[in-house]
Amino acid sequence: MTTIESVRTSFYIDGGWRAPSGSATIPVISPLTEQEFGSVPEATTADVDAAVAAARTAFRSSGWRDLSPADRAAHLRRFADELDKRAEDRASAVTSENGMPIALARFAEGAAPVQLLRYYADLVESTPVEETRTSQPLPGSTIVRREAIGVVGAIAPWNFPAILSMFKIAPALAAGCTVVLKPSPETSLDAYVLAEAAIAADLPAGVLNIVNGGSEIGRHLVSHPHVDKVAFTGSTPAGREIGRVCGELIRPVTLELGGKSAALILDDADLEQTVGGLATASLLNTGQTCYMSTRILVPGSRYDEYLDAISAMCASLPVGDPMDENVAVGPLASGRHRDRVLSLIERGRTEGGTVTTGGGTPSGVDRGFFVEPTVFAGVDNSASIAREEVFGPVLTVLRYDDVDDAIALANDSSYGLGGTVWTSDPDRGVDVARRVETGSFGVNYFNLDWGSPFGGVKASGIGRELGPEGLAAYQNLKSIFLPA
Ligand code: NAD
Repeated sequence: MTTIESVRTSFYIDGGWRAPSGSATIPVISPLTEQEFGSVPEATTADVDAAVAAARTAFRSSGWRDLSPADRAAHLRRFADELDKRAEDRASAVTSENGMPIALARFAEGAAPVQLLRYYADLVESTPVEETRTSQPLPGSTIVRREAIGVVGAIAPWNFPAILSMFKIAPALAAGCTVVLKPSPETSLDAYVLAEAAIAADLPAGVLNIVNGGSEIGRHLVSHPHVDKVAFTGSTPAGREIGRVCGELIRPVTLELGGKSAALILDDADLEQTVGGLATASLLNTGQTCYMSTRILVPGSRYDEYLDAISAMCASLPVGDPMDENVAVGPLASGRHRDRVLSLIERGRTEGGTVTTGGGTPSGVDRGFFVEPTVFAGVDNSASIAREEVFGPVLTVLRYDDVDDAIALANDSSYGLGGTVWTSDPDRGVDVARRVETGSFGVNYFNLDWGSPFGGVKASGIGRELGPEGLAAYQNLKSIFLPA
């Protein structure tokens, strides 16, 4: 295991380390021991102003946006190589901060950000900046040009801090934008590994800047007069507020928000494979993943069978120290979040739900923000446990009559982020996928694809990340009209 540097005293601004203007710090708390094991400086508005000023200078005067796509791609590849060397450090840092099982962190937080930088380096190099169209109705031609939007204020949550930051940083830098990243206060430490990689890669000064802080610092960044675009991943309430502010400013914004996605189990599904698949599709990262299928819709004829199998699967998941390779369920990221999850479980019980497994903190464990994998039955889709995002290891198993009913239940949600269908007939699965109101959907599994858009409908957000659409989100289009 690598040892992470857990006390940090400066910010990465304008290409190097910069002393904070204030003296406040943010403690880094281990979700396993509940003890403080490090700290990072908390930014003041002056630090945010300095970061935005550096990003603005890098965008407007230092030539980043004017580099050829191939030259920017070369910078991104060097950055990716340096990040690759530090992948294990980053994964360990994330697991220490938020309790993500280390086997998952190695892929999602260590390797995946490197892959995504390389993907956008390749994409920007192969995407023409300009195309010429024949004009109409008058004869002539039009050059349609893609230009970088400018300074991006990027705000990340704590659940997958490294990859969700990179969802923004990689396409933004590829497009020629510059970035000020504000990680979540629970997970600021791992972003120092990103900064070290940027320094080692000689990323030009001001192209990427990182400041730490909570919602107030986030608000300052979102409304900053020199920020040109906001990219946010987090909760729906915060997204609504950010959307209001950006609407008033007429500032482009991407909002990746919460979810309460459905798993539709069809009557022809293989029970064992389906329940095995749900362990990942519904509980990845201890359920702290936005697109989890946490409402499990089961045909009435097979309800009891599935309820027993899903409950048994949840009860069998190894819970414990997230640094242990074999652990599937770690502690939740913070004490505050653990309390919220427990209170939603309590509310589910009060509303008449039956807990078939879990329902509290594991017995015999006297430290760590643990919540047992929990399954609710005996409620319908109107119960809060079926409607509200829990963001923890809590599933609700609901009964349906026929496929139309299942689709109606899946769509009866204020959210629309992910979802899955489980069937032995993939064509039937795709038919169901076409009818569910959501931004992404998996047939017999759920896996993001760097090359295809990801995002939500309804209260799950606006805009898309990943794929060419994720690059376009950092570009303005300009039409240049030429007479014949
Ligand atoms: P959160 O909204 O509390 O915080 C997210 C980030 O926004 C943090 O950095 C926080 O400091 C900052 N912030 C909060 N309020 C702000 C405001 N008004 N202005 C500016 N910044 C503000 O969310 P969280 O608890 O960190 O993350 C969990 C939530 O994120 C869940 O709802 C989850 O579904 C969602 N999420 C969505 C996706 C997606 O891609 N759709 C991915 C991961 C997580």
